[in-house]
Amino acid sequence: MRESPNRDIFRTRSQVTPVERNRRNGQAGCVVWLTGLSAAGKSTIAAALERALFDRHKLACVLDGDNTRQGLCSDLGFSPADRRENIRRVREVARLFADAGIICIAAFISPYRADRKAARRLLPRGKFIEVHVNAPLAVCERRDPKGLYAKARAGKIKDFTGISAPYEPPSNPELELRTDLLSVAECVAAILERLEKMPGAPEK
Ligand code: ADP
Repeated sequence: MRESPNRDIFRTRSQVTPVERNRRNGQAGCVVWLTGLSAAGKSTIAAALERALFDRHKLACVLDGDNTRQGLCSDLGFSPADRRENIRRVREVARLFADAGIICIAAFISPYRADRKAARRLLPRGKFIEVHVNAPLAVCERRDPKGLYAKARAGKIKDFTGISAPYEPPSNPELELRTDLLSVAECVAAILERLEKMPGAPEK
């Protein structure tokens, strides 16, 4: 990462405290960070979790790699440096949402442990919930909803995570969801249960 050239910039402080904001919103902001191989189930779980939270009158939003790569990160590719920059940008956005009191569901392969650690460091303790969306590579490859594994095996996509680029699994995630063994509904229920245990979470 380049060093910031903006030495003369000073942070503006909010006049609204987190406690006031949480009381108003009836919830505390946080980041649910879904990491895992392509086709492991991140986008599916993110969308189902957003729906479940909405139905419970919670404020939630989804940041999804496939979407942010069409806008905020449309200038980035899949080299190690670009993947790092991709996650640097989206973790900053995720933090802004969490600061605004929203449950931000971030669905990104985010293959590097150090980048996810940096995302965790941006949030207050307990407000970053790392979820390893885990299915064996063979299962992801069999699902291949977007045909990307087939293209990667045929050499038409280079730097493809799990095939020709590394994935560093979380060593100590808040949750691991084996999507080859659990249903989408079970995965969502496990995250909701974890969210209820979050410090500062208002009662249902
Ligand atoms: P990713 O966002 O990780 O690339 P997707 O959500 O796009 O993955 O695709 C995952 C595929 O696996 C979908 O076709 C989904 O229906 C299927 N699937 C099967 N079981 C699960 C589960 N328990 N959780 C999430 N997805 C699942």
